[in-house]
Amino acid sequence: MLTKVIEQAKIDHFTKWFERADKIVIVSHVSPDGDAIGSSLGLYHFLDSQEKNVNVIVPNAFPDFLKWMPGSKDILLYDRYREFADKLIAEADVICCLDFNALKRIDDMAESVAASPARKILIDHHLYPEDFCKITMSYPKVSSTSELVFRLICRMGYFSDISKQGAECIYTGMMTDTGGFTYNSNDREIYFIISELLSKGIDKDEIYRKVYNTYSESRLRLMGHVLSQMTVYADRNAALISLTKDEQGKFNYVKGDSEGFVNIPLSIKNVRLSCFLREDTEKPMIKVSLRSVGTFPCNQLAAEFFNGGGHLNASGGEFFGTMEEAKMIFEKALEKYSNLLTC
Ligand code: 5GP
Ligand code: MN
Repeated sequence: MLTKVIEQAKIDHFTKWFERADKIVIVSHVSPDGDAIGSSLGLYHFLDSQEKNVNVIVPNAFPDFLKWMPGSKDILLYDRYREFADKLIAEADVICCLDFNALKRIDDMAESVAASPARKILIDHHLYPEDFCKITMSYPKVSSTSELVFRLICRMGYFSDISKQGAECIYTGMMTDTGGFTYNSNDREIYFIISELLSKGIDKDEIYRKVYNTYSESRLRLMGHVLSQMTVYADRNAALISLTKDEQGKFNYVKGDSEGFVNIPLSIKNVRLSCFLREDTEKPMIKVSLRSVGTFPCNQLAAEFFNGGGHLNASGGEFFGTMEEAKMIFEKALEKYSNLLTC
């Protein structure tokens, strides 16, 4: 059995919208990850089964390892089909905002979504949601937005209408946002939900292989290179890896190739904090990714030193400057947080 999590009044409110709506648009965050695509497509398959006119729009492309997901070919990329997407957003009855907590996380789409007269609902698990939706379903203790989508559909009374395809998408989001159920995944209800998804006929082992074991040779060689250059701060229980544009060129880097690299240093004994600095290919900035284990608040570090944020154990930010400067800032942060890292 599942606990309620989502308040009944919010379920009732959304159910009313849902019953009256025809055109529904689902939007998710820039550089969509497994949970952004999984939750969006999970909801998409359900709404589609209820004969709604539903479209998923994301700001830009998503990684190849998510392209097998049922329905992924129907996702509209805003940076390619802006005019058509703007029309859908403007004419929608309901807009579902999934897996982000602030309008700036949908980049250039923010303006059209804010301006649309559609009823808006937020379904998300990031801390401190902004107030831009009439219904805000924000539950930071829940490990993925995909799990919330499952909970929402069930609470509305439609478990039986979740298809195998929908279940595959929901499972993928739950799996990727917990690193294959290796962090943020001690809530026993997660496994009850997985059991329900298995009852829909999903093959969870195959989904794991499709997401994690279909990388290119050059990605694996890049990983070897990045790890060989790693700095370990043994006295601070931390590690740092980096990737410059030059290195990206040498290893035929394509977007998504460094996905997950930031987690690897956490497999070193005693390392509690890992940082990955990557020169961006599009904007003149360094993308910062942080991961921690236990209670170390890497979202606080990201906010204080890299103008970012996120979750306790997974956060990120941006740095405008050189790689050397970014490393120095990280080392400064290690000094400041040394108590929390070495206690
Ligand atoms: P990743 O390292 O996978 O890019 O991001 C991990 C988490 O950190 C994301 O789910 C998001 O919550 C947060 N995050 C990443 N980049 C940023 C950023 O630039 N600003 C903020 N506020 N949060 C970010
Ligand atoms: Mn998520």
